Amino acid sequence: MRNQLLKFLVSLLILIDNCLAAVLPETLRRELKWGQVNILHTTDMHGWLAGHAHDKRYSADLGEFVSFIHRMKQLAQEKDVDLLVIDTGDLHDGTGLSDLTDPPGSWTNDLLTNVPYDLLVAGNHELYLPIVMNDTYHNFIPFWNGRYLASNVDIYDEEAGMYASFGEKYAVFETPHNVRILSLGFVGSFSGGSDKARVLSMEASLRQPWWNELQELKDIDLILIAGHFPVHDSSELDLLLLKLRKEFPDTIIQVLGGHSHIRDYAVYDEKATGLQSGRYCETAGWASIRGVPSFTSSKVNPISSYSVFSLFSPLINYPRKILEASYIFTNPSKFSRSYIDWNRKGFVFHSKVHESKFDTSEGLELSHQIADARRRLNLLDPLGCSPKDYGFSEVPRNASNSIYNLFESEIFPKIIVNKSRSHMPHYIILNTGGIRGGLQQGSFGLDELFQVSPFKGNVFYVLKSIPWFIVKDLPYWLEHSGYLSIFDKSSTLPGDSNTVTETLTYTKSEPKKVSYGYWTHDDMGDDGDDTIHLPVPHYDSGNYLCSKVNIHLDIEHYPQRVDLVTTEFVIPRLNYILNKLVGKALYTKEDWELYFWREDGRHSMTDLLALYADKYWDKECFSST
Ligand SMILES: [Zn+2]
Repeated sequence: MRNQLLKFLVSLLILIDNCLAAVLPETLRRELKWGQVNILHTTDMHGWLAGHAHDKRYSADLGEFVSFIHRMKQLAQEKDVDLLVIDTGDLHDGTGLSDLTDPPGSWTNDLLTNVPYDLLVAGNHELYLPIVMNDTYHNFIPFWNGRYLASNVDIYDEEAGMYASFGEKYAVFETPHNVRILSLGFVGSFSGGSDKARVLSMEASLRQPWWNELQELKDIDLILIAGHFPVHDSSELDLLLLKLRKEFPDTIIQVLGGHSHIRDYAVYDEKATGLQSGRYCETAGWASIRGVPSFTSSKVNPISSYSVFSLFSPLINYPRKILEASYIFTNPSKFSRSYIDWNRKGFVFHSKVHESKFDTSEGLELSHQIADARRRLNLLDPLGCSPKDYGFSEVPRNASNSIYNLFESEIFPKIIVNKSRSHMPHYIILNTGGIRGGLQQGSFGLDELFQVSPFKGNVFYVLKSIPWFIVKDLPYWLEHSGYLSIFDKSSTLPGDSNTVTETLTYTKSEPKKVSYGYWTHDDMGDDGDDTIHLPVPHYDSGNYLCSKVNIHLDIEHYPQRVDLVTTEFVIPRLNYILNKLVGKALYTKEDWELYFWREDGRHSMTDLLALYADKYWDKECFSST
C-alpha cells in the first residue's frame, strides 16, 4: 500500500514538475508543529560544520545553524513556549576540518561551543582514542557546566589515579515555563573503545548508586534521554524505558537518539517517543511535546493555530491531499517531529524572517571562524580533479560510477603496491565501512579525502603465502560469516531507514523544484521530512571490498598460494574467519607484516584517493567554457 502510494506521489510530482515548472515554488516544505516544549536536535555531525559545499540540500554551515537557533528562540518567546537544543554525540571523524587537528576534533569542539546546547552526550567516536578522550574531558566538557551527560561513561583520570565520571550522571533543571526536567545521557555499547574509557552496560548502569537517587526526585514533568543509540531496536534503550516506567509510570519521556545515522522516530507508549536526526549536518531534528501538566504560559492559547500540515504554496493541492491520507498520527495531542534539511533556505523558512534579517552577529562570526579554520588547515587547496561523480549507495556497488568500484577495481590494485610482493597473487580486502561517502565531479581537497574515508590511522598489512585451498572461498565467507556486523559496515544514508525499494532510474537532479533526498517512514508515518523529495535509491553495499590482483581463476592457473592484504581494523576479523576455515587458532595478529609504506607518510586509507589522483587525474579542473 505504501509503495503504491509512494509510486503515485513520485509520478505525480514528476508530472507537476514537468507541467508547472514555471509556477512551482522553489521547494515544497512542511511547516513545523510547535508544542509547549520544543527541541532542536543534532547528532552524528562527524565534523561537517562547514556544511556540504557541493550539495545545496545540506549546504548551511554551523554559523547559519546558530542563527537559526537564535531566530527559533525568538519565535519560541513570541509563542511563549520552551525551546531546548540537544546533541547526542559523534562530533568528529568525518572531515578534514575535524580530523586534521591534533588532537582530532579539538578545533571543531571549540567551534561547537558557540552552539547554545542545553544538553550533550558523547558518542563512541569521542571514546576511541585516549588523546581525544582527554581533550574532551579537560577542554570541552567543563565548558558545558553540568550539561554534558555521561550516565554510563567514566574516564581514567591520571591525575586523580582513579576513574571519574566523564560528565554528569544525570541533571535536573527547570525551563522558563515551569517544566521540571530529569535528563540522562548514555552511550550504547560498542567495541574498540580506549582503555581509558569505562562504558557500563545498561544493566550495570542501573545498579549504580546514582540510579537510586532518581527515586527520591519529586515532581518530574518530563524525562529527556540523550542517547548515542538508535531509537528503534536498541535492547539497552528498551531496558532503560522499562525501568524508568516503573519509577515514573505517568511521566512524559522524550528520547533523542543517534549512532546509526538515519532519520527515525519511535513511539514507545502514549507518553514516550524517540527522535533520531540523521548524520553529517544533513538534518536538524525537531521534536515538540504538548500536554505537559506543569507548563505555565502567560498567554491564554499560544499555540491555537497548530496546523497539521501545510505546504509552501497553495497551488499544490495534490500532494497535500495524498500526504494527509497517509498520515498516521498515533498521538496527535502530545508529540510531533520533523526532519529539517540542513540548508539556509529551509532555516529561513522556519524562522519566519526575511532572509536579509536572518543572520545574527554570533552566527556570522562563527561562519567566519569556520572559513578561517578551513583556510589554516589548507582545506581549500585542490588535490585533484575528479572526472565524474562517484556515487555512494545511491548507485549499484559494481557500477562504473560507484565509489566502491573505484576503490576495488582501480585504487587498491594500482596504489597499494609492495614491489617485493607484487609477483604474488593477492587479495586486497577492506570492510565497506572503511568508505563513508562518495566523491563529486570536480575539484577536491583534503576535506573530501576525509569525507570519503576518514580513517587516517588505517595502514595496510600482509599475511603471506596462504594456501589457496584455505582462501579460495574467502570472498564468500567474508560476506556470510556474520563477523562483519552492521556497524562495521558503512552507516546508512538518505532514504534508507525507510527502505525505499523502488528501482527508479537515478539521474542527478537538475537544480530545480523537487530534488532527490530523504523520504522517511517512521512510527508516525511518511510526513516527517520538512522538504518533499524524490526518494534516493539505495543499493546494498555488502560487507567488504575485495580486489583480486593476479588471481586468475581458470583451471590451469589456480594459484598455489596467495597473499592477503588488509588494514589493522580488519585483521582480527580475517583471523577469525581463517581460523574457522582451518579449524584451529592458526593465525594471530603477529603473523601480519606491514605491506604498504611510504617515506612521505602518505600510506593510510585516507591517502589512497589522493595518490591515485596524483597519478591518473588532472591536478586542477579546467573549464571548457
Ligand atoms: Zn556516528
